[in-house]
Amino acid sequence: MRLSIATITANTMLRPNVHLIEMNAPQLVQSVQPGQFCMVRCCHPQAQDPLLRRPFFIHSVQRSRGLCTLLVTVRGRGSAWLAQQQAGMQLDLLGPLGRGWQLATTMRNLLLIGEEAQMAALTMLAEVALDQEMAVTLLCLSRTSDAVYPPALLPEEVEYHIVTGDLLAEAGEYLTWADAVCCSVSRETLTALYWRYERMRRHKFAQGVLLQPLACGSGICLTCSVEMRTGQQLICRDGPVFAVRKIIG
Ligand SMILES: Cc1cc2nc3c(=O)[nH]c(=O)nc-3n(C[C@H](O)[C@H](O)[C@H](O)COP(=O)(O)OP(=O)(O)OC[C@H]3O[C@@H](n4cnc5c(N)ncnc54)[C@H](O)[C@@H]3O)c2cc1C
Repeated sequence: MRLSIATITANTMLRPNVHLIEMNAPQLVQSVQPGQFCMVRCCHPQAQDPLLRRPFFIHSVQRSRGLCTLLVTVRGRGSAWLAQQQAGMQLDLLGPLGRGWQLATTMRNLLLIGEEAQMAALTMLAEVALDQEMAVTLLCLSRTSDAVYPPALLPEEVEYHIVTGDLLAEAGEYLTWADAVCCSVSRETLTALYWRYERMRRHKFAQGVLLQPLACGSGICLTCSVEMRTGQQLICRDGPVFAVRKIIG
């Protein structure tokens, strides 16, 4: 975990309130793993409001160029400030933080399931899985057809399906094909998938992210402690990625 200053190289509005921020952050880019995040100071260097940093996944990396992107959905003051920062501005980051996705080298068919607002947790994973010669299918759950994750941001080799209807019904055939699934969905959707499909309950088959507002992001304040099957865990330090059996079982 390191403090670093990144320089924004581009800020692209994908649609209102959703921005892709590219930045030069060589230290972060060298060590970050899929599913890890950074805590971003979301105010002017001389300001102190909001005081707490905000967590964001590293959406993608270009290691050779020291570049990475954040996919920012505006929710409140911190994310609104971040979405307004333009090329040339500097960002104060703490990261990489947390425990990300675990990919066994024996996996061949990887299924990713994401809700539109949580897609940032999955995209770097897709790139790393393809590098390991896995077949990758991504199901993206969107409430409306005009608020979908842009396919142009994904590697071409990813089989990408947008689900605007019943995810629970559509996931079945893909779960049969997959030998592992990584889910970045709400806890409600994760729970529904878990109880509907026996495969979701198998040992080492399903992983999921747990997201909630974080205060310190580094395991010190203990405010993100959650009760799991195996006892208390910290979302920021032991997660945000957990075995689904631990979260729900
Ligand atoms: C590990 C982790 C990684 C994240 N990665 C990303 C990312 O890559 N891109 C992205 O856009 N967002 C991401 N988030 C969510 C992001 O951190 C919050 O949207 C942000 O902190 C909100 O700060 P704010 O000042 O804009 O809003 P606030 O004023 O702090 O809050 C506005 C509203 O958003 C709600 N809120 C805050 N955090 C969350 C959350 N995690 N989930 C649901 N509701 C929330 C608050 O309860 C409040 O109602 C991530 C969260 C976590 C825990």
